[in-house]
Amino acid sequence: MGKDAPSKSIVKIMSFKDVYYIIYDDIIRNYSLFKSKRSNIHGIILMYHHVIIDENMPLGTCVCTVDEFKNSLDEIAKYGYKFVSLDEANEIMKKGDNTKFVSITFDDVPNDFYENAYPVLLNKNFPFTLFLTVDYLNKEGYLNKEQVIELCKNPLCTIGAHTLSHPQLRNCIYAEREIYESKEALENLISKEIKYFAYPYGKMSSVSRKIINMVADAGFICAFGTSDAPLSDISGRDIYYLPRIVYQRGCFKDKFKYSFFAEYVVRRFLKHK
Ligand SMILES: [Zn+2]
Repeated sequence: MGKDAPSKSIVKIMSFKDVYYIIYDDIIRNYSLFKSKRSNIHGIILMYHHVIIDENMPLGTCVCTVDEFKNSLDEIAKYGYKFVSLDEANEIMKKGDNTKFVSITFDDVPNDFYENAYPVLLNKNFPFTLFLTVDYLNKEGYLNKEQVIELCKNPLCTIGAHTLSHPQLRNCIYAEREIYESKEALENLISKEIKYFAYPYGKMSSVSRKIINMVADAGFICAFGTSDAPLSDISGRDIYYLPRIVYQRGCFKDKFKYSFFAEYVVRRFLKHK
């Protein structure tokens, strides 16, 4: 299971701040979808975790089968989106020239990426970014350092940082170390600059402004959360908290539709419980 899988608990005591952050993410998401037709930026950053062979995983989880992975990419390609690296995405965003672009990212990154997703991406010649959690490298079920070194020799591959130990940064007393040292460790491993960062758990409720400023100070070009929104003039404004669309089994297409806040809450907390 992906570490960023949404919580399945329905009854949860939330502070005012938690509620504010949840609403913040939803406003970003819905407003971006609403405004996307008039926007000069039309981007999608996709986030995947596991790409597996087994089809018995439940819907709504951050897992997809190899076929679902291929189909999700084909589906987006049908709408005329250009598959680009994060460097290219960054350039397109700066120009704001209406190019429809999509960039593929993986978090954590499990070994099934190497076995199942990588061959598909090679075959399609699609660029991708791996947000690596440093402490997971060489652990059972995750990429090892040799694989990362091999992967990053491929021009399709970008490596990004996803902390040292995958904490919820908002409540982590070592947040600065997690951010700075993950960048440094990965730069030492692949001898390239690490320009991009993804927040573990990704919602604003796990992040906070203080953490976002810390990531900016660490020298990253931009950083990604999981607000489930497309990139538009609105959502692309905050380059250290850019939204990604999280692939979830059975509810991928829904994520590209505009929905009112209430509808979204119903869908999220009732339908996918
Ligand atoms: Zn993660």
